[in-house]
Amino acid sequence: MADTDASVKNTPEAGGKPTGNMQANAAGGTYFRKGFGLKSEIQSELASDYTGQLVDMLQAREYTLTAGDLTIRLAKEFGFCYGVERAVEYAYQARKKFPDRTIYLAGEIIHNPHVNSKLQAMGITFLMPKDGRIDFSGVKSKDVVILPAFGVTITDFEILRQIGCVMVDTTCGSVLNVWKRVESYARDGFTSLIHGKYYHEETRATASQAGKYDGAHYFIVRNMEEANLVCDFIENRLSSEALMERFAHSASPNFDPARDLRRIGVANQTTMLARESLAIGELVGQSMARAHGGEYARENFRTFDTICSATQERQDAVVELLREPLDVMVVIGGYNSSNTLSLAALCSESVRTFHVEDADDIDPASGRIRHRPLGSKEETESPGWLPETTPVRVGVTAGASTPNNKIGEAVGRIFATRGIDPKTVG
Ligand code: SF4
Repeated sequence: MADTDASVKNTPEAGGKPTGNMQANAAGGTYFRKGFGLKSEIQSELASDYTGQLVDMLQAREYTLTAGDLTIRLAKEFGFCYGVERAVEYAYQARKKFPDRTIYLAGEIIHNPHVNSKLQAMGITFLMPKDGRIDFSGVKSKDVVILPAFGVTITDFEILRQIGCVMVDTTCGSVLNVWKRVESYARDGFTSLIHGKYYHEETRATASQAGKYDGAHYFIVRNMEEANLVCDFIENRLSSEALMERFAHSASPNFDPARDLRRIGVANQTTMLARESLAIGELVGQSMARAHGGEYARENFRTFDTICSATQERQDAVVELLREPLDVMVVIGGYNSSNTLSLAALCSESVRTFHVEDADDIDPASGRIRHRPLGSKEETESPGWLPETTPVRVGVTAGASTPNNKIGEAVGRIFATRGIDPKTVG
C-alpha cells in the first residue's frame, strides 16, 4: 500500500515529546512531564515496593528455575515496560515533591491493582471515569493532577488547564507517537480507523486527537470480525444504517460512513495483538482497492503500525517460549490490562493458560487457582490446575504493568503448590 511505513518502530524516541519539562499554562498552573530530578530519593522505596528476588534469579539463570520435578520458564521479555516504569517513578516523585498538596490521578496510572493500591496508600486520590468521563469538579488550582501513562482526552486536558492546577504528565512517548499519527490523518482529511478497545483510556485519548481538526473523524474496531464489517460497508455488502447500528458507540459524533470511510488511515492502541493489527491494516487496504481501484487506494489509504516496541517484544518473547514443550502457562496482569490480555490470547492458542490478576490468586494450600478465562468477564477457580504428570514445565509471563515482586511471588506460589518451599529454590 502507498504510505505504508509499518517498519518504523514505535519507540519512546519516536514519540513526539513536548520540549522542556516545566511550562506555565494559560491559567497560571504548571505542567511537568520529565519528573522532578528526585529519582535517587525514591529509588530505594521503588525497589522495595516492586523488585522480586526470584525474578532476578530467573533472569540470571537463562530464565529457568528447576526444583524437584518442576521447571519454571519465564519469557525473556516480561513485566514493567519503559512507559510504566517512568509513569510510576514520576508519581512517586510527585508525592515527594508535593508532600502537603492534594494529589489526584486522572484514572488509574496503569492497570495493575498492586501498583494502584500502593499509590492510594501514599495518599493519591484516583478520579475514576464514569460513563467515559472524569469528574474534575473537586480539583482546585493548588492541587496536583497526575496524567496516566495512557494519556487523557483533549477535553480532559483542557479542563485541567482551565483549572490551572499542577499537571504531572506521564503519558508514554509511544502513546504520543500514535497521537501524532492520528493528528496527521485528521489534518490530511483521513478518518482514523483505530484498532483498539473503544472504552480503553488510551484509545479514548487517541481518538480524541482527531477532534483537533474540524470535520475529522475516527472509527474504532476491536478485532478482525469488526474490521470485516467495515470492509462489508466499503464493498457495498452492508448498509450505512446497519454499520452505524453496531458501531454508534465507537465512532466519532455524526459519523457518516458514506462520507467518512472514503479516506482511511489505520492506527492501533499500542497494546493490541500486533499480528491482528497488521492483518486489519492489510484487510482494509485490500478492501478499498477492490471497491475503488488500486490507484484510489494508494492515494486514500494509509496504515502505520503503532503497536509499541515493549508490547511487540513481550509478544515475540512469549511466542518464542511457546515453541518449547510446556504443560501449562501462567499469565500475570490486571484483567483490564490490554497488553496482558493479548499475551493470554497468544498463549491460549498453544497451551492450557491461566490468566491471574495477582500472585495470591494461586493458592498453594488448596491447590486452586483463581483466574479469568479468555473472553469471559468473570473470574473462576480451578482446582488441581498444576498437572500431576512428572516432570512438569510451567511457562510464565506478565503484562507491562505487572511489577517483578508480583511475578516472583507468583513463581514462589507455583513451587509451593508442588510442595516445594520457594526459599529452597536456587
Ligand atoms: S505498554 Fe507501550 S505504550 Fe503502554 S506504557 Fe508501556 S511502553 Fe508505553
